[in-house]
Amino acid sequence: MRFILFLGALFGHIYCRETFVGDQVLEITPSNEEQMKSLVQLEAEEHLQLDFWKPVTIPGARAHVRVPFGSVQAVKAFLESQGIAYSIMIEDVQVLLDKEDEEMLQNRRRERNGNFNFGAYHTLEEISQEMDNIVAEHPGLVSKVRVGASFENRTLTALKFSTGGDKPAIWLDAGIHAREWVTQATALWTANKIASDYGRDPSITSILDAVDVFLLPVTNPDGYVFSQTHNRMWRKTRSKVSGSLCVGVDPNRNWDAGFGGPGASASPCSDSYRGSRANSEVEVKSIVDFIQNHGKVKAFITLHSYSQLLMFPYGYKCTKPEHFDELNDVAQKAAQSLASLHGTKYEVGPICSAIYQASGGSIDWSYDSGIKYSFAFELRDTGRYGFLLPASQILPTAEETWLGLETIMGHVRDHPY
Ligand SMILES: [Zn+2]
Repeated sequence: MRFILFLGALFGHIYCRETFVGDQVLEITPSNEEQMKSLVQLEAEEHLQLDFWKPVTIPGARAHVRVPFGSVQAVKAFLESQGIAYSIMIEDVQVLLDKEDEEMLQNRRRERNGNFNFGAYHTLEEISQEMDNIVAEHPGLVSKVRVGASFENRTLTALKFSTGGDKPAIWLDAGIHAREWVTQATALWTANKIASDYGRDPSITSILDAVDVFLLPVTNPDGYVFSQTHNRMWRKTRSKVSGSLCVGVDPNRNWDAGFGGPGASASPCSDSYRGSRANSEVEVKSIVDFIQNHGKVKAFITLHSYSQLLMFPYGYKCTKPEHFDELNDVAQKAAQSLASLHGTKYEVGPICSAIYQASGGSIDWSYDSGIKYSFAFELRDTGRYGFLLPASQILPTAEETWLGLETIMGHVRDHPY
């Protein structure tokens, strides 16, 4: 582990932030089963400390892996000795992180005039202040709802968009994986979009006249804060795991849906550690309780990054869900509207075939709980920047994603069940 003492002008405190100087992200394309096996062996070499941004799936599919500086030579030598094709996706991870830090600082100076910039990355505190602003500006439409609290006791605050009455609801969350920063930013932009355009945009108006929307922009606040103060690559929660020095659980392997099955790790040090039991993570349990108590949630949509995918169940198994045709049709239409703005292409399909088999995921839980319209987005990009998407892409990402969300929400409005 390499740390630097970072005098945090950015956060107003002194933190030990891990550096990623000289780390490279490699795009690796195994061409046959034998090469796949070699890569699985490589992944198991714990001392290399490889961080698979996009896992090894099938021959011909690209994997993305962040290789710490100290392992770069060994990994490249291994790939070359096995004849496995690779290219360098990111030459030096820290260069991108320094740029990101600098942009956040500059933006903070610009925001001193009081105008929130939705096209920038923000701290948890700034996000929560802006949520307060949105509520204050639209008191008749938007309110704050406490969904629960995180392991480190940060409030999980959702925004409720409601025109009153006892309506069915759409659930939308982002940031369950801490480092997927474009998702929290997109969610906040979306909150502002819905709040500002109700009564002006006929589509938003008709959606909110039929259903309420609950939007949780930062589902994993402990992880989000940690990703800014300590380790930009943090993905999991920050819960303590008994019997292990490793911290945190992958909250999207922790839902009660095929829990413990393929595509999740039983090892507490893994980035996809599923936890000791389903719902062990208070962030997950809080949402489960909230949705069950509500009782009329008809759609569950979650935002991840990256890969440009629009997915629906199942992830824990590779059989088609009962409503495959309808879900596929809605998702195809949503992907088309999304692409209509900037030409961003999404692939559509069940999690199992779109990425890989993964158990304990949120939309499998929601679907098996009777919420038919369960979808997961993987936002931009397809790998040029991966999790480190430049802030300049937040607005185009949010705008195009809205077109996809609007299509799904419109379908939910028109197909009550
Ligand atoms: Zn994710």
